Amino acid sequence: MLSLEEILSDLEQKSKKSREELLAKIKKKQEELSGLVSSEGAAHLVARDLGVSIIRETKRELKLKDIKPDMKNIETKVRIIGITDTRKFKRKDGKEGRVASLIVTDGTAEARIPLWDKQVELIDEKTVEKNDIIEIKNAYAKENIFGGLELRLSKYSRIEKVEDDKSIPYRVIKPEFERKKLKDIREGSYEIRGNIVNVFNINPLFKTCPKCNSKLEKDNKGYKCSEHGYVEPVNNLIISTIIDDGTSTIRAVFFRDAAEKLSNINPNTLSNMTQEESIDLIRENILGKDVLLTGVVRKNKIFDSLEFIVRDVKEFDIEYESKTLIDEISSFR
Ligand SMILES: [Zn+2]
Repeated sequence: MLSLEEILSDLEQKSKKSREELLAKIKKKQEELSGLVSSEGAAHLVARDLGVSIIRETKRELKLKDIKPDMKNIETKVRIIGITDTRKFKRKDGKEGRVASLIVTDGTAEARIPLWDKQVELIDEKTVEKNDIIEIKNAYAKENIFGGLELRLSKYSRIEKVEDDKSIPYRVIKPEFERKKLKDIREGSYEIRGNIVNVFNINPLFKTCPKCNSKLEKDNKGYKCSEHGYVEPVNNLIISTIIDDGTSTIRAVFFRDAAEKLSNINPNTLSNMTQEESIDLIRENILGKDVLLTGVVRKNKIFDSLEFIVRDVKEFDIEYESKTLIDEISSFR
């Protein structure tokens, strides 16, 4: 990513506006987006508003999933996971042409690299073979008619086989938790982002056996485990909420570590409080909070509705979040 300084000097030249003016615009843009974008991100948006292109030759290695059609000067490292048969065809001038494609991946996505005519010799002479890792320089990207990504080579492009350091997988690795909007989720594993809009008034403490983690029965002598008898119980936190992401809502339940991370509350501090006091404290700490969660969506058979069992409360990756936001804003134009 270009630094703010790099973007600014480029913008100054191309827009003929003063640095002060540009900085003010960048600050204003950041404020408009509630500080969600970095100053670099805001500078890119300002450039776009001014109709200035500051996408320069990027020489850094790109991940296939981040490559968009019409990007140029692409440098990337991928593994060949397939090679198509060579197809011969007649050109308009009557000469015979040849084409074959390398199917490649870097673990984030797949792409095809069509090789034409003399380039097919790379395959014929086994300069590159299936399972090899190759480095590609100066390629450009196109979307093929099937909507797939193609990396195309010009006469300035380079393909080079490099040592297999095992850094690149043999297939696309799907993220365990895929980001989804609530309106689109079904049963399965997801990452969601939304605001906590309600906290249910249920007892936030449940007591378990320190030896086997089972739930304990309470009688007049204390807390009893069916296997270990009377024990000193462990306090565990459970928080049941409603999350709203603007597209829909879902009941989300936080247990133990996830509940503590969400609320910043140690469950032992609640053990001398009433349920109402505990819920008030929890609400104070989490109502309205913007959260990023991974977890599993299950069907609650009693309520016949979906609920989200939270696995983890994640830290925001600001760069990812601002990129997602920019994509969303762009899609409204
Ligand atoms: Zn036990």
